[in-house]
Amino acid sequence: MKASTAQKLFNKRAEKVAFDTAHRSKINFNISRYDQAVKAGKSIFRNLDLARNRAAFTRYKVINELDRHLIEFEDNFIKNGGKVIWAKDADEALREISEILKRHVLRSAVKSKSMITEEIELNDFLEKSGVETVETDLGEFIVQLAGEKPYHIVTPAMHKSKEDVAELYHEKFNTDINLTPEELTVFTRQLLREKFCNADVGITGANFLIADIGGIALTENEGNALLSMSFPKVHIAIAGIEKILPRMEDLDLFWPLLATSGTGQPVTVYNSIITGPRKNGEKDGPEEMYMVLIDNGRSKLLAEERQRQALSCIRCGACLNACPVYKNIGGHAYKTTYSGPIGAVITPHMKDFSSYKHLSFASSLCGKCTTVCPVKIPLHELLLVNRDLAIKGRHYTLMEKQSMKLSTKGMKSRKMMNMVSGKTKNVLAKTFLSKSWGPHRDLPRFANKSFNEQWKKMKGED
Ligand code: SF4
Repeated sequence: MKASTAQKLFNKRAEKVAFDTAHRSKINFNISRYDQAVKAGKSIFRNLDLARNRAAFTRYKVINELDRHLIEFEDNFIKNGGKVIWAKDADEALREISEILKRHVLRSAVKSKSMITEEIELNDFLEKSGVETVETDLGEFIVQLAGEKPYHIVTPAMHKSKEDVAELYHEKFNTDINLTPEELTVFTRQLLREKFCNADVGITGANFLIADIGGIALTENEGNALLSMSFPKVHIAIAGIEKILPRMEDLDLFWPLLATSGTGQPVTVYNSIITGPRKNGEKDGPEEMYMVLIDNGRSKLLAEERQRQALSCIRCGACLNACPVYKNIGGHAYKTTYSGPIGAVITPHMKDFSSYKHLSFASSLCGKCTTVCPVKIPLHELLLVNRDLAIKGRHYTLMEKQSMKLSTKGMKSRKMMNMVSGKTKNVLAKTFLSKSWGPHRDLPRFANKSFNEQWKKMKGED
């Protein structure tokens, strides 16, 4: 898709959602509850800033020594009996996963929430391959049922009210339209239990890859990831190569930091460390465990001296909840796996820069994202660096170039600014700007006289 078309479509989607008052009230309600919880949750840290500094240091150091840590992880994971698969992009990852499914004759899958599987569009692929796949995280289950993509990296169904969900269940399962959230949860639980017991393969992500023990850390609130990896005979874990933590002890810091920033909990309900398949004498766990490590544009991001810091992200979602633009346009307007400030920083590098660079301009640069980030990624600065790259790389249209040139010339010249009256300026603005300004806002009006003319008059220099 042409870059200008991608930008126009984004603007269109954003404008539609921004003026949808029902959407706004759902998001504001859900985020305000999140804000209260996070405020309370963060109080468990005696020195939150120190914790953030330590986390930022650990993650950034890892990113700069990624090759060493990844090899250590691979060695230890293999020693634990697991198998490691490296995939340079989504196609390669899907091919490898398909091979595993064929080799073990796996026809049904239970999946726990994982953004990287969204990134490689695994569900579509499995469906086309004839593998029945069920999302087992409640939020993911809801969006899968609705035929949608996750709205948010932590809370995928944040845009739906309890009434929306009850209506969806009524439509799909013919349940009572007045079911309460508790009743809906019980219904889902019963339905998923059967899927867990009968699935051939469990597919999970990994919140962290722990190099020194060759294991993965998974953190969740529903226990569905735990069931997804312990019931089926094969477990496929999928993660981006940046997810490394050097030592198991690092979880002391990262688990509470991720939980408080993500949901406001002191720590999430279920925290598991998995080191390979079932061992001799163990009752639970898969016979085989595969770890698929995916690059898919991360090396490109790593090559960017400033933006590589964004690989430190631990996907807590705090920057999305803090962002005034995200709160207005919502997660689906971005049409990317990662939305909000972090998505705007990384997507242009991980995908095609020209087609996604416009996301870096969809920001007020207020800096709140940077303030809340638990690993201190300077998100608003990186958005500016992306903008700079877009200009230096000439990723703009001729029209944008000409209008910038003209307005710079005009604004730098007092003579030109005073050449036409306020009335004429208003006519020009209405003619050329009102379309891009949109129908929902009043176009600002120029005063009859410029500031300079008014100043001169006041000083009697006229
Ligand atoms: S950039 Fe920071 S705040 Fe945003 S999701 Fe990643 S870790 Fe969380």
